[in-house]
Amino acid sequence: MSKREFQTEVSQLLQLIIHSLYSHPEIFLRELISNSSDALDKLRHLTLTDEAYKALPFNPRIDLELDEEKSTLTIADTGIGMNEEDLVSHLGTIARSGTKNFLSQLSGDAKRDSNLIGQFGVGFYSAFMVADRIEVVSRKAGEDKAWRWVSDGKSGFEIEPAERDVAGTTILLHFNEEGKQYANSWRLQEVVKKYSNHIAFPIFLTYDKSEWNEAEKKSDKVRTTEQVNAASALWRRPKSELTEEDYKELYKSISGDSRDPLFWFHTKAEGTLDYTTLFYVPAKAPLDLYQAEYKVGVKLYVKRVFIMDDSKELLPQYLRFIRGIIDSEDLPLNVSREILQQNRVLTSIRTASVKKILSELKNIATHQPEKYLEFITEYNRPLKEGLYGDYANRESLLDLVRFKSTKVDGLTGLADVKSRMKEDQKSLYYITGGSESLLRTSPLLEIYKKKDIEVLILDDDIDEIVFSGIDKYGDLELKAVNKASTSDDLKDEAEPDNAEALKPLLDKLKATLGDRVKDVRASVRLADSPSCIVSDEEEPSLQMQQMLRAMGQKDIPAPKPTLEINPDHEIVKKLLSRSDDAVTQDAAWMLFDQALLMEGVPLQDPAAFVQRLNRVLSLSI
Ligand code: ADP
Ligand code: MG
Repeated sequence: MSKREFQTEVSQLLQLIIHSLYSHPEIFLRELISNSSDALDKLRHLTLTDEAYKALPFNPRIDLELDEEKSTLTIADTGIGMNEEDLVSHLGTIARSGTKNFLSQLSGDAKRDSNLIGQFGVGFYSAFMVADRIEVVSRKAGEDKAWRWVSDGKSGFEIEPAERDVAGTTILLHFNEEGKQYANSWRLQEVVKKYSNHIAFPIFLTYDKSEWNEAEKKSDKVRTTEQVNAASALWRRPKSELTEEDYKELYKSISGDSRDPLFWFHTKAEGTLDYTTLFYVPAKAPLDLYQAEYKVGVKLYVKRVFIMDDSKELLPQYLRFIRGIIDSEDLPLNVSREILQQNRVLTSIRTASVKKILSELKNIATHQPEKYLEFITEYNRPLKEGLYGDYANRESLLDLVRFKSTKVDGLTGLADVKSRMKEDQKSLYYITGGSESLLRTSPLLEIYKKKDIEVLILDDDIDEIVFSGIDKYGDLELKAVNKASTSDDLKDEAEPDNAEALKPLLDKLKATLGDRVKDVRASVRLADSPSCIVSDEEEPSLQMQQMLRAMGQKDIPAPKPTLEINPDHEIVKKLLSRSDDAVTQDAAWMLFDQALLMEGVPLQDPAAFVQRLNRVLSLSI
């Protein structure tokens, strides 16, 4: 037997890898199983494409054999195997990946079709995290001789001739302290299911199973072999081969939800990047949807091998209700969280996935309106969050969100509002700030009702924040009706007939209200009410200011709205003909206070309000 040193500073490098490359020792099993899967893929590829290999048997399987007493595990495959030279160059040199060499010899399409996981050349060494001695016995397909490679992962390795019945590779691990926990069949099954459940080849585990012996009233150890993985990776199969049931079952297994999903989008992308995505929308919004520490619902796979399920980088936050899988051909197996954050491959997949999800949703909205209603009832709000954050997809999102409106029962979309617009209407209107009933009875809506213009009722508490940043839908302007500037659609009403006569009254009211108002002016938006309150274009509404204050923002100046009065209203007309200052002063405050009350803003001085009310009452009785 010849003892050989590892090439170039390998032993130090090895220690480094063992201790820093992988954060979870359990991934040793993922790496070894992936290597076996690669080896099976390689052999399959050769038997399909190479004359010299065509006659060789191909019975793909991966066998794990556990010896709990000896604390050893073997991982055996019927793949391509290695000869002496391969063992030296593939396992004797770190970061020299045989897989990479093999890949570089393949041309375009063949490369795409081969499912080669490893490309990094360090996976095998991760086994030294859990083993203090590793023996590899391998026989290359098409050759008679087998070889044994042995190493403690520190000094070097030895190679000697060995025996193996068929081609393939057997890896024997002698577990160290750290690895002992894996000398347990439960633990092994758990790790295989977690990372390798969807490997295309069957993985069997042979172990001593405890079985109850009724006759002798004790449990016996029975040597048992069971398949551990599902070996399905359903998402990699063509859509045409999959039934509704297949999709639903997979959904339940990955989401833990017992209900059927609402719908799903299955995409296979080929070209510059190769990847498969399968996204599900749960029937009911996940319970943690509005918690900061929500659980990520999309799992990342690289070539059918599970990588992680807690990366918030996979989809934008507003799509956190999506469940499913991203399976990439182009990412390295040991891709880390940090790498993911600015990984070009993942960024492209993410961008394309968002576009895909949004366009599929639009499809459903158009062709299955009832299904879409079920969807939007659960997910309107996260989509609105998207409007706030995802600038690139704002147009698509604007078409997906739904609103209450003055013209329809239930919910409606902007496209529908647009289609109902009056011929000469120039903008789309909405009202924010307050509950639905408060908004529906707002004096601000009176003129729109009179003119038969539809107004969207935005009663969700995030609506004002979201929509204050959006001023267009396509080429139409989106306007808040409680903002001071009047829109083109009201222009014909802009000047009251009695503007001149009104001026002294407006001045008097303004003098009375002092610095509680920015201005007092004649309104063009009122029909039935005597007064209303409007805010400046840039200013948050009164309700928003109240909310900000409630959230603890102290430095918000007291609201200073503009009071508008209705020149055609009884009260205003009568006031014009009064010269009595006391009555006009009371009226000024009462017009202001009632406008605030209609906006749902509490009065600053209720006692004064009541006193005035009583004075006025006693006059009229
Ligand atoms: P990678 O898988 O990234 O190439 P590894 O360190 O996991 O790197 O493995 C190094 C090389 O050893 C592989 O590329 C492959 O050529 C060879 N190898 C490892 N395990 C097996 C196996 N079970 N059968 C055949 N070859 C293997
Ligand atoms: Mg590998």
